[in-house]
Amino acid sequence: MLAECNDKGVPLVVTEGYRTFARQQELYEQGRSKAGLIVTNAKAGYSFHNYGIAFDVAFKKGKAISWDGNWDLIGKIGKSLGLEWGGDWASFKDKPHFQLTKGKSIDWYYNQIAKGLVDESGQTISNNDENLVKYNQSDSALNKNMLKELFNDSRFKSLLWRTGMMALAFLVNAGASNLTALQLDPSVTVFIGLILGEISKALNNYLSNK
Ligand SMILES: [Zn+2]
Repeated sequence: MLAECNDKGVPLVVTEGYRTFARQQELYEQGRSKAGLIVTNAKAGYSFHNYGIAFDVAFKKGKAISWDGNWDLIGKIGKSLGLEWGGDWASFKDKPHFQLTKGKSIDWYYNQIAKGLVDESGQTISNNDENLVKYNQSDSALNKNMLKELFNDSRFKSLLWRTGMMALAFLVNAGASNLTALQLDPSVTVFIGLILGEISKALNNYLSNK
């Protein structure tokens, strides 16, 4: 496609090809949880760029790159070569974008490849969500959203409340019996300590990502 466009007098450069899940999520957060304009509606795993079957182009003008040019012409050339063109999309027209999906939906790629069910040739490899879980854990933006959801969850709020009341009741009881309760029931102390530890970890994590 690049050669053909070059021949027709519209030299192009590829500005983006394969994208990691982490980079996709970074782009998705842009204009949402992070500053900037929204550049994509696709979360990690939901862009054909994540599977190496999409690329974006721009016009080469001497040594410079430009997004100002005859998009319709290059769209036509790309399509004549069997590519799908983002300029044809009804919502969120993406004129620099071309892809070759082999007739499969993004959900197919996500469910089959991102979740590790098959490799890109269609060969079954495993049946677990480990790839996604691993990715999700390493992504601070997702962790932040998960924590936000957690703190907005009424069950979690009520757990916090009950834990607080338990701790208070325990301390009152311990005070009344001259702290002998601490020795009598170390498991309760450990339990409360663990819960408070988890809560402070979660809070810390949340605040450091804010
Ligand atoms: Zn693209």
